[in-house]
Amino acid sequence: MERVITWSFKENFIENLAQFLIENFAGKDNDFSRVLCVFGGKRPGLFLKQRLSQKIKKSFYPPVIYSMDEFIEYIVKYPFKIFNSEGETVEGKSLVFKKISEIDACYFIYIITQEFAGEILRGQRQFSEFLPWAREIISFIEQMDLENIPNEALAHIQKSAEIGYEVPQSINLLLQNIINIRNKYHSFLRKNNVYSRGLMYLDATKIVPYREFEEFETIIFCNFFYLHTTERDIFKEIYKKKKGIFIFQNSDDKWSVLEENAKYLGFKIPSCRGHPQYKLSIYQGFDLHSQVCIVNYILNNEIKSNEVKNKENTVIVVPSSEAIIPLLTEITSQGKEFNVSLGYPFRKSSLFTLFATLLKVQESRRKDGKYYAHDYLKLLRHPLIKNLKIFHSSAVTRVIVHKIEEVLKGILPGSINGSLFLNLEEIENEEKIYWYALETLQNMNIYVKVEECKTVLTQIHNLLFQKWEDLVNFSEFADNLEYLLNTLVEKSKLIKFPFNLKFVEKLYLIKEQLKSSLFCKERFTSREMWEVFLHHLEGEMIPFIGSPLKGTQILGLFETRSLSFDNVIVMDVNESLLPRLKIYEPLIPREVMLNLGLNRLEKEEEIQRYQFMRLISGAKKVYLIYQQTQEKERSRFIEELLWEKQKATNKLEVTTIPKVSFLLKISSHHKEVKKTQEMVDFLKQQVYSATSIDTYVDCPLKFFYRYVLGLKERENLLGELETSYLGRFLHELLRDTMERFKGKRPVIDAQFKKYFFKELEERFEKKIASRMKSDSFLLKKIITTRMERFLECEKRRNVARIICLEEPGYGRLNFSPGTIEISYVVDRIDELEDGSIVIIDYKTGSTNMIPKELRELENIKMERCFLRENIGSFQLPLYYHFISQKFPALEINAELYNLRTMERELFIKNPHPSYKEKVIAICINALQNLFGELFNPEIPFQPDDDAQKCKFCPFTSFC
Ligand code: SF4
Repeated sequence: MERVITWSFKENFIENLAQFLIENFAGKDNDFSRVLCVFGGKRPGLFLKQRLSQKIKKSFYPPVIYSMDEFIEYIVKYPFKIFNSEGETVEGKSLVFKKISEIDACYFIYIITQEFAGEILRGQRQFSEFLPWAREIISFIEQMDLENIPNEALAHIQKSAEIGYEVPQSINLLLQNIINIRNKYHSFLRKNNVYSRGLMYLDATKIVPYREFEEFETIIFCNFFYLHTTERDIFKEIYKKKKGIFIFQNSDDKWSVLEENAKYLGFKIPSCRGHPQYKLSIYQGFDLHSQVCIVNYILNNEIKSNEVKNKENTVIVVPSSEAIIPLLTEITSQGKEFNVSLGYPFRKSSLFTLFATLLKVQESRRKDGKYYAHDYLKLLRHPLIKNLKIFHSSAVTRVIVHKIEEVLKGILPGSINGSLFLNLEEIENEEKIYWYALETLQNMNIYVKVEECKTVLTQIHNLLFQKWEDLVNFSEFADNLEYLLNTLVEKSKLIKFPFNLKFVEKLYLIKEQLKSSLFCKERFTSREMWEVFLHHLEGEMIPFIGSPLKGTQILGLFETRSLSFDNVIVMDVNESLLPRLKIYEPLIPREVMLNLGLNRLEKEEEIQRYQFMRLISGAKKVYLIYQQTQEKERSRFIEELLWEKQKATNKLEVTTIPKVSFLLKISSHHKEVKKTQEMVDFLKQQVYSATSIDTYVDCPLKFFYRYVLGLKERENLLGELETSYLGRFLHELLRDTMERFKGKRPVIDAQFKKYFFKELEERFEKKIASRMKSDSFLLKKIITTRMERFLECEKRRNVARIICLEEPGYGRLNFSPGTIEISYVVDRIDELEDGSIVIIDYKTGSTNMIPKELRELENIKMERCFLRENIGSFQLPLYYHFISQKFPALEINAELYNLRTMERELFIKNPHPSYKEKVIAICINALQNLFGELFNPEIPFQPDDDAQKCKFCPFTSFC
């Protein structure tokens, strides 16, 4: 029997292998158990067994099937015989071991590096910071082991490093000690009965000469391409023993990797014939989602329905895990079965968000133990936490969490309103939270006691906060992690979603690794432990649940090894993804790699090209989809296929590439709201204010949301300080401090100033500083300076007495559509020394406007947009109108008093009586027109056409 066999790319490898086994090893009993088939991965073995059963159609003993890793483990793990020169058995040794966890390997490299190249760790680099370095060093040692690089070759590198490669000094230092580090790492692994993949392969090369593999009649090495030196050594030894059959796809005259294998192994890989005859279609998308839509289109339209029935005939190759969720979301609506081989990144799960928030909460905790309210609430609001069923219903926890949020944000009154930092006892002792919760729960027919609510809260605090404070080692960390996981499994909705089970399983595994790690009792800072843990989680991929043999396959390129499909759809056929090449080696200089004979970059390109060409050559229909953007260009693999076609047909235009676009129907952005008669009746009964009228003038739709639907932004006492909050602060300060001058002449002397600034200081600390971080002193300085200037201005004003401060008033306007009731609050009214009255409106922001001069008002059209432009705000006209009625005999004016610049702008700019009358008449006429429009059922609430203001409108999301 030939021991080196080649099949062409066009041939179905699994089909051929099944036939080969039946023809050569079936015997009478269909017993293949003395044949060992070794594949690169695990998946082809499943397909082989399935194909054998389909072909034999009765019971049979399947061959033993190993992946290469399993085969190597088999070599080193099981007893074997060594004979002396007399042919006697002298040793039969098996290795008992387990694979070292990544975290233990990294930690041990950290310790060894400290010993041999401590300079690298200069600057007290912590373990968590060193992790990426550790991974690179391990990967380098793994490569050296897999490629069987002897220490002698490394000695040359060490010598060169002493002279110095053109890399940072720390890397030269590392290279100078690389033999020591590698040796120490190996002896550590052996001593602890743990193994790395590289060391296992390395040891297998030493053991395999002593293994006769009597348990097998033959070992078939199936469809290998690139071989590490250790693999080649093992293959060569087995070839020498005449125990192995080597089956390749394609031949050594076409692929340099196969040529090198053949040369090393000392045989020729025969040539093979067979030209692929698939139908090629290429599609161009513009992003991931458009590619996903193309896949859906192909499955629905291009692949004929009878073929789809045989779903196992189709594979979708997805080079990046990012595409999995969008792809599944789109195609699973077809209701077919899919099997996904790629994992889902842990970092995208809700559990990862929970742990990241746990870290953030501990990070932002102050030295005095107080928690930052933002992060505290973020953690409590996590869906897995706020739905914990600690008491008999998860609603209890949910309501308590919402009440804490409302009290902290100042939506409900409480002693902790607006506190930015607070300790857990302060929250637990705020009884109002429980009473608010009780009230809401009663409305839901859930009856609990205050004490029970308190128990729920203290348990949550213990679980999420207290237990994570002051941790010192990974053993404690792992215990806490276990406690948290147990609670989530028992009391949350976590495992109601089957996919989460995989996440939980992984977390328990990591917990075990941490608990049993070699460094579990070493002292670490809490932050460091969190970083190591999250770093670990970030790299984890969680496999989807499914049957590998069922449905349309969604695989990565390497999972397609040895498999053939009639329909092949490949997404993301772009440079940087297909082939995906690691051009930049962050740690080891390329020169070093080349000196060691490790030219992985060049090989990597050929390996991926081989797998890609092998897959498509065996198909009937091939659909390649790429993304064309400024940053992404199509893969060299597509260019190669097109070039081959161009050469074969002698034409430039060999294929048309449909470009996908979405038909977007853009709906008009803001929709107007029609008035109903009920709305008009409602509007006619309302009491209006200058603010509500100004809102209508600004945007009728905004008026609708605010005053018809009654929607209002919630004030968030924990959020950024808003200008309106600062404005209210100043208004209240001026009202309360000036109160002592009501009915009197204000005297701004040293005594008043002392009182004024003490009051300012106290109020600032209570209402503003507590809501800000360390930069509050700056704001205080600005406010104090402005108030000093205000008092100076006040000193110079000739005020005879303050008539009133923020007194509410009420008035009516008798218009043709009906009487309009208006309520108002004037900031301040002064009587001046000349006996005239001035109405003052303090201005703290920059939005208030004052009507223009008469000559500009005289000819304005009574339409909303013109009124907005020329009158701006109806505040001063309304105040003026109503206050004039109270003091008919006196000279009156109104002014805006700017508390930033101390400028004062008069409403009536000309004291002539006819000027005043005309301005007021125009303003009142304008109001009559506005109310006429507002009460007209034919005129809807329209959006204003100034898109700029929508940016700052709280109702943008409704529009
Ligand atoms: S988003 Fe724009 S159109 Fe809509 S209510 Fe606000 S301001 Fe008016």
